[in-house]
Amino acid sequence: MSMRPANFDYQRPTSLSEAIQLLANNDEAKALAGGHSLIPAMNQRLSTPEQLVDIGRLDELKGISTNNGTLSIGALSTHAQIAASSDVRTHCAALATATGLVGDPQVRNWGTLGGNLAHADPASDPPTVVLAAGGTLHLQGPNGTRSVSADNFFIDLFTTDLQPGELITRIEIPSLQGKKNAYVKLAHPASRYAIVGVCVVLEMNGNECVSARVAVGGATPKATRSPSAEERLTGSSLQVAAVDAAAEALVNDIAGDVMGDLFAPEDYRRAMAGVYLKRAVQAAMA
Ligand SMILES: Cc1cc2nc3c(=O)[nH]c(=O)nc-3n(C[C@H](O)[C@H](O)[C@H](O)COP(=O)(O)OP(=O)(O)OC[C@H]3O[C@@H](n4cnc5c(N)ncnc54)[C@H](O)[C@@H]3O)c2cc1C
Repeated sequence: MSMRPANFDYQRPTSLSEAIQLLANNDEAKALAGGHSLIPAMNQRLSTPEQLVDIGRLDELKGISTNNGTLSIGALSTHAQIAASSDVRTHCAALATATGLVGDPQVRNWGTLGGNLAHADPASDPPTVVLAAGGTLHLQGPNGTRSVSADNFFIDLFTTDLQPGELITRIEIPSLQGKKNAYVKLAHPASRYAIVGVCVVLEMNGNECVSARVAVGGATPKATRSPSAEERLTGSSLQVAAVDAAAEALVNDIAGDVMGDLFAPEDYRRAMAGVYLKRAVQAAMA
């Protein structure tokens, strides 16, 4: 296996509009953010872009803020910055947890949320949380700006709704303050990528769960919601029987989609998806 990339041209635009123009002008160009998915793929020649458009220094894509509780996270925010952000901890604790569990410190210091969501690796952590949290992705491309809900953004394995020349500029997440939320994962022992990751967002009224959002990743080609698990949790008081039923419902919802490999076969991932749903509910309520 070659461990060197094919030759490529390198551009470092100084504005977002210049970056989009470069990308739109060349079908074989790719944006470079933290490089922690793209460079390994280029080293293995799984990806052979003609041109890299380095967006890594564009201030327009940086920063984390809140507006009336809605979190706005610039696409270039690193996993480490997100994990350390008090705004994120307050308004979407599960995302702070998930980004804190990505890879190792080096990966967290380079890898960006925008790059992670755009790459849509099935073993990623953030897509599962952004989906469960009801996030929205703000995009800008040659035809202007648009926004896409996480529910519609992730299409398949490494496949998103991003169109040629389009970049994720920021990610908005409605405040989950007051809702119970948590992300838990079974990490691959070497890479720390998710074998299974589950995020739950629970709205409680006293002991009763009045609404629930459940998403699973790692086991499936893309981050996936489980409507049946959400239904089992909603209206329950999260008693053992209800959470067990939700775990079983989750496993049934994804049963046909679960992927396996030598390390973690399908059956194992399916079983772990149920186990981690229960752990996610426990973690959210703790
Ligand atoms: C050893 C190792 C362990 C890892 N472990 C984990 C893990 O446990 N969990 C996890 O979730 N991830 C893990 N990762 C992946 C890591 O989070 C990546 O950094 C991240 O997935 C990609 O972000 P990036 O900024 O590095 O993107 P890049 O590698 O620069 O780009 C990735 C892709 O996204 C595109 N892109 C980048 N930014 C944008 C944008 N703003 N808009 C549109 N397209 C864009 C690029 O063109 C490219 O196609 C690991 C990586 C490594 C190397």
